[in-house]
Amino acid sequence: MNSVPKIPFLDLRPMHQEIKNEMQEAFNTIYDSNWFVLGEHLSDFEKNFADFNQVKYAIGVSSGLDALVLSLKAAGIKEGDSVIVPSNTFIATALAVSHVGAVPVFAEPDINTYNITGKSIQKAIRKNTRAIIPVHLYGQTCNMDEIMQVAADNNLFVIEDNAQAHGATFKDKTTGTFGQISATSFYPGKNLGALGDGGAVVTNVETLAQKVRMLRNYGFSQKYHSQLIGYNMRLDELQAGFLNVKLRHIEKWTKQRQEIASWYDEQLKDIDGIATPMVNKNSTHVYHLYVIRTNRRNQLKEHLQKSGIGTLIHYPVPPHLQPAYSSLGYSKGDFPIAEELAETCLSLPLWPGLTKYDVAYACETIKKFFTMNNLSRIKSDN
Ligand SMILES: *Cc1c(COP(=O)(O)O)cnc(C)c1O
Repeated sequence: MNSVPKIPFLDLRPMHQEIKNEMQEAFNTIYDSNWFVLGEHLSDFEKNFADFNQVKYAIGVSSGLDALVLSLKAAGIKEGDSVIVPSNTFIATALAVSHVGAVPVFAEPDINTYNITGKSIQKAIRKNTRAIIPVHLYGQTCNMDEIMQVAADNNLFVIEDNAQAHGATFKDKTTGTFGQISATSFYPGKNLGALGDGGAVVTNVETLAQKVRMLRNYGFSQKYHSQLIGYNMRLDELQAGFLNVKLRHIEKWTKQRQEIASWYDEQLKDIDGIATPMVNKNSTHVYHLYVIRTNRRNQLKEHLQKSGIGTLIHYPVPPHLQPAYSSLGYSKGDFPIAEELAETCLSLPLWPGLTKYDVAYACETIKKFFTMNNLSRIKSDN
């Protein structure tokens, strides 16, 4: 018997093999410098990452969650405020709001783009709403025209959660540069990933940048002088050094992601029973994840697993149904679109280095699953 092919959901090895020498050089340089926190590798990375986003300021921090917390703090969001977040986001978006003492209020996504819209945000606005956190989910940009309009009409601060959309654009402008401030993550599996935890805050507003710089480092305006009740939420030299290397390759890797997505699109488009990702008009998708929807999600996931193909669900439990948020008093049925997505979405393998052969095999396996199922349905109808 031939062995079953193994296609993991995510494999960082091809990327990391490609840049191994550069990464080891970065390690050696920093190791020999004996300077590990707040040094030149961080300032280099901050400059490079700001250029990459075409903004004035980037501030390296310890994680995506921390980047969100610092952005909210810098924006002055506090107890008594409510902040609009998508009902289908990764939990960190909502957690950050809670950590500054505010309350997350959920807006439903569009079922096809998986992103919140001007309309759904409008519905979620309360008297005490101060800010919106749009999430460019799975690498697909939100319609930022609509969102900035609602924000302007209602005097709301916009903090973009750009953890999944490094380098994506809406009308040729990079995500994370529409709102006053934005937060991103360099968790290893993100499009631009460190070799550990990391994140960044990005902004064009100098006062916000200064505040975040102080807050990430004990509130220091200068060493040992605390202007603010700050944190230790810094990005260290090693991670900044590694990120500098990876940033030189990100555009090529993004193109690979987009090419892989186009193979999936092409081979999955005629299968009755699944919906493939939709790309918004005027926007690029950087395919942090390739997420399909099907009513037979759990069976398909199992079928793929048996065939050696790894998949994941992003995300199985929406924030409003998490035990951590039971105190908000929501129950099943309150956000039906988020709940439907949680029950029907499935993320297929997509990473730089995945081959055309791998994708063809995955798509064949999916096709077979639906043919089998459709045949047995026809039989049972007779
Ligand atoms: C990954 C992620 C975060 C959190 O980033 P961490 O670095 O893991 O803390 C926040 N929001 C979204 C949408 C994410 O995907």
